[in-house]
Amino acid sequence: MKRILLIATGGTIACAKTEGGLAPALSPEELLARVPDAQSLCHTEAVQPFNLDSTNISPRHWLLLAQVIEKHYLDFDGFVICHGTDTLAYTAAALSYLIQHTRKPIVLTGAQKPIDQEDTDARQNLLDSLRYACSGDSGVCILFGGHVIAGTRARKTRTKSYNAFSSINFPDLAEVRDHRVARFIPCPQTGSPSFFHRLDTDVALLKLVPGLPAEAFAAIGRLCDGLVIESYGVGGIPDLYLEQLDTLAQAGKTIVLATQVPQEGSDISVYQVGHRVKERYHLLEPYDMTLEATVTKLMWVLGQSQNPEEIRRLFYSPVNFDLIF
Ligand code: ASP
Repeated sequence: MKRILLIATGGTIACAKTEGGLAPALSPEELLARVPDAQSLCHTEAVQPFNLDSTNISPRHWLLLAQVIEKHYLDFDGFVICHGTDTLAYTAAALSYLIQHTRKPIVLTGAQKPIDQEDTDARQNLLDSLRYACSGDSGVCILFGGHVIAGTRARKTRTKSYNAFSSINFPDLAEVRDHRVARFIPCPQTGSPSFFHRLDTDVALLKLVPGLPAEAFAAIGRLCDGLVIESYGVGGIPDLYLEQLDTLAQAGKTIVLATQVPQEGSDISVYQVGHRVKERYHLLEPYDMTLEATVTKLMWVLGQSQNPEEIRRLFYSPVNFDLIF
């Protein structure tokens, strides 16, 4: 029987009602007790490194989760992480960079309703995740509503429905339906896993809105090492910020020019507003990467190197299906 480590971190799946609204309360043992069928699937052990609404999760929690998996990597065949849905896509992307070439499945899941509610999706998601973790597939992924999405491709696109996550610019990896796993995208060849222990968390995401003051643009850029600019369409910088961009580039900031359009990605050479800045400032662009992947990849890249050529090489090296372009 396969051995699976359940890592419980809080989220709606583990919530109970309080006078002040839902808050994480259940232990991993209590979660497992709600899915008795799991006993016939796998041998499960459980840990709970923290118990949070995922609104409160930050990069130090991603590093901690990667550490927990590294510590137990040889003892288990797969890992299931129960997590709040709100920042699940960021955690899945971050873990995709912190744990590369894993030949074991690392499956993140959660729920839109607490596991103790009658009409909950939690029991199905947890059971499907344990089943998928036993399937022998490799890599970091999100399982939600039967869909298995690469850890770098997920976005929470619905706040209430049970199909809360979409795979952006890439197909689902697999589906779990009626107790069966159907795999659509072959698992990549994997060797030994690489675990990383550093992120540069001084990375910010700045969403442009028409009329955003130039001083706000400059201020957020000054405060970080890496700046992801969520611009418009295929990508461009308004005239208003050219001077500020010049200052940031001269200060050695790593700047990524992304798009706020959810589908199909960037192509900043197309229009003059993008073309004029791309070469001049050696801007990076995400192409078809999600914003969640772009931000966490930049944290990982800047955690590995300060050298502009190496930063560029790492940023454009595909990891866990994050980039095709
Ligand atoms: N606020 C909750 C969380 O992210 C929402 C959820 O889990 O669905 O922890």
